[in-house]
Amino acid sequence: MTYQGLLHKYGHLLDLPPHTQTVSLLEGNTPLIQADSLSRQLGGGFELFIKYEGLNPTGSFKDRGMTAAVSEAHGRGATTVICASTGNTAASAAAYAARAGLKSIVLIPQGKVAAGKLAGALAYGAQVIQIDGSFDDALTMVVQITNKHPICLVNSLNPYRIEGQKTSAFEICDRLGSAPDWLCLPVGNAGNITAYWAGFKQYNEVKSTGLPQVLGVQAAGSAPLVLGHPVEKPETVATAIRIGKPARGEQALQAAEESHGRIIAATDEQILHMQKTLATLEGIWVEPASAAGLAGLAIEIGNGTLNPKGKRIVAICTGHGMKDPDIITKDMQKPLIVPPKLEALEEVILG
Ligand SMILES: *Cc1c(COP(=O)(O)O)cnc(C)c1O
Repeated sequence: MTYQGLLHKYGHLLDLPPHTQTVSLLEGNTPLIQADSLSRQLGGGFELFIKYEGLNPTGSFKDRGMTAAVSEAHGRGATTVICASTGNTAASAAAYAARAGLKSIVLIPQGKVAAGKLAGALAYGAQVIQIDGSFDDALTMVVQITNKHPICLVNSLNPYRIEGQKTSAFEICDRLGSAPDWLCLPVGNAGNITAYWAGFKQYNEVKSTGLPQVLGVQAAGSAPLVLGHPVEKPETVATAIRIGKPARGEQALQAAEESHGRIIAATDEQILHMQKTLATLEGIWVEPASAAGLAGLAIEIGNGTLNPKGKRIVAICTGHGMKDPDIITKDMQKPLIVPPKLEALEEVILG
């Protein structure tokens, strides 16, 4: 049967109001790719799968929640949506708003948004406003303005975002036949970890698919859930998780605790190392934040605090590498230039 998007496939399992009118770009249905080489590099003896969420329509998992949030807003007759964003939410909101014929406004922290994300938001026609402050400041502002004016908030504080994002847990269980033993993923504003945990719990109730242990990973320079207090000036190359006051922090901690998992921090160096390893070993290029879950898994296995032997592990890679090309090209040596002669090419290739 032709794939018709997430609300068509899983809408009956999502808590959306009857007025919801589907706005879809055929999001979801992303591949779960077995990563044997990376598993071996991490010691082997376990099954590792990458849920490649960068293959959603706008290049990140945000589309799962956005199809639900914009479908609800559209069905209710909203004319304008707004969000604060580190970049991917902005691009996703702008695309789904365009599809529904709504106006979109996005607030981003000045100078801290990756090129591919800003370009996306602009291409889809959003009104983009830079805030001379952090993501957390921008989020406070959009909450204030939506309390005062009839503009629909589509950050993950919007409950329909979480509903839509649960579908990735459903897809994983449908594909594997059950929940994995461990689920590793990056944690920023903590909507996604909240949604996965809700999704796995719901599927387990209906289909007895079991529950994973959840390993949430923050960047060391913006790890409020590891430190136990907000971070005023969060810093990390993983801009998608550069968040000092996660809106759903409590729920993230609860997911970790209930699942007998944990939330840990990975340094920028560990994150970038994993980004490179994943690309060169498996051919999967993700943006830095998306490598955080796997970086955390490597840390845990290295410390001996997570024994992967005989286990089935799923890592969520949240966004595509093409969103943030600068991180690769800024330190890159310029490719060699040779004259258009066969001998010159042979010399370079064969030495
Ligand atoms: C939004 C985002 C995250 C963080 O997700 P939260 O729900 O904010 O925890 C991680 N990686 C990428 C690529 C993202 O766009």
